[in-house]
Amino acid sequence: MGEATQGSKELAVDSLLEALQSEVPLNGGTRCATCIVINKLSDEDSKELVLWLADESNTSMLISRGLAKYGFVVSGASIARHRRGHNG
Ligand SMILES: [Zn+2]
Repeated sequence: MGEATQGSKELAVDSLLEALQSEVPLNGGTRCATCIVINKLSDEDSKELVLWLADESNTSMLISRGLAKYGFVVSGASIARHRRGHNG
C-alpha cells in the first residue's frame, strides 16, 4: 500500500515570512542594514519594529538607539533611508 514519505522535503527557509522577505528586492543590490535587522529578528520582534518604523512620530535616532540596546547596531541615517524607501 502507498506509504507516505514525510519529513524528507527540505526547505530553504523556515517560514513563509522568511520566504517572502528573501524576495524583497534591495535597491541596486545594496544591502540595507535596516532590512537585514528586520530579517534577523523573530517574527514578533520584526512586526514590532515595522510598526515603529511606520509611525513617523518615532525618530530614526530613537529607533537606532533602541535597536543598539537590543544588540543591533543600525545608524539613524540607515533607518531614515530605509523609511524613505531606500532612496537617497
Ligand atoms: Zn531597508
